[in-house]
Amino acid sequence: MGRRKKIVEECETLMNTPENIRNIAIAAHVDHGKTTLTDNLLAGAGMISDETAGEQLAMDTEEDEQERGITIDAANVSMTHEYEGTNHLINLIDTPGHVDFGGDVTRAMRAVDGALVVVDAVEGAMPQTETVLRQALREGVKPTLFINKVDRLISELQEGPEEMQERMTAVIRDVNDLIRGMTEEMDDIDDDWTVSVEDGTVGFGSALYKWGVSLPSMQRTGMDFGDIIELERNDKRQELAERTPLSDVVLDMVCEHFPNPVDAQPRRIPRIWRGDADSDLAEGMRLVDEDGEVVFMVTDISMDPHAGEIATGRVFSGTLEKGQELYVSGTVGKNRLQSVGIFMGGEREEVEQVPAGNVAAVTGLQDAIAGSTVSSVEMTPFESIEHISEPVITKS
Ligand code: GDP
Repeated sequence: MGRRKKIVEECETLMNTPENIRNIAIAAHVDHGKTTLTDNLLAGAGMISDETAGEQLAMDTEEDEQERGITIDAANVSMTHEYEGTNHLINLIDTPGHVDFGGDVTRAMRAVDGALVVVDAVEGAMPQTETVLRQALREGVKPTLFINKVDRLISELQEGPEEMQERMTAVIRDVNDLIRGMTEEMDDIDDDWTVSVEDGTVGFGSALYKWGVSLPSMQRTGMDFGDIIELERNDKRQELAERTPLSDVVLDMVCEHFPNPVDAQPRRIPRIWRGDADSDLAEGMRLVDEDGEVVFMVTDISMDPHAGEIATGRVFSGTLEKGQELYVSGTVGKNRLQSVGIFMGGEREEVEQVPAGNVAAVTGLQDAIAGSTVSSVEMTPFESIEHISEPVITKS
């Protein structure tokens, strides 16, 4: 069996165990390394080859298939990752990096429960870092932090361990000031959502050179700052990437620190849906009930040259299946699902069904727009997604 087919089958099996699912987004100020990091995670999960990761190209790695390049620039992908002996399904939703897509970023946040915020170690937290954090927290999405481009501190700026630590402490402090300020008024968040090295909610490394560390990873590999500096300075980046691969560190952090849908939905539903909290529908969403009524929130519409319009979004309750007749909020009549699928390395794979707690990509919802509530019974639609505007910054 080809590697790709095997991954699809793994994903299909894992889809039925919401406890082992993590729906996540990676968000960053422009140029801080979101694309490079995303490619790395895909390569680490076997979705694209290592050589092409970093070139912003996703390749189908199946040997018996013709090689073809697929840009993953706007990709939503599902991948699997083994953490502490358990296989996990990670659905990664792309958040457009450009400021013009502010609304899209917020919509993407509706589909996920965790946001990995990437900050450039040299530049520190920037205006868009604040914007993406605000977008995540308003949706009740939990943040973690990855401090990227640490290679530059070592090789370019020639910093020693103390200076590096100081710089990273400052980044963490700035990000936590933002998180604290934004969560103060949120009474549905009981836990402290600030990030820390000690808790393992902060990772750092180099997306470009494919290495990463966190406190748990350092404890596991026995590598410390000194070892990292030495290897990086002596141009032994390959060895560094092999001894402490970025994708393992980040995906471990995702599995350990981001809530699964069963933990997240009871908290998130009251925040994003104002319908009757005592109804069966509300109960189905809180419990991530795959046998409940279908409730699907569309977060993105894209065009596929063959399949036509594809609606991507989060299944909050019930199970999506081909042939279902579903209501689309704000329109009359029903739409019939022509196919249901998941994204794999930038391509859509059709599957039999997609149960609650997952991200799905479906065809046939001709009346749906980004933001539509799609359901098997007529219902109060989800809260509209607030667009958070931000200062205009152009990418050089
Ligand atoms: P995005 O705009 O956040 O998606 O950023 P990209 O992933 O496109 O990266 C922006 C630039 O920073 C590119 O030239 C990358 O090669 C570079 N870059 C990304 N990660 C790193 C890193 O860890 N170290 C260094 N030195 N450069 C990086």
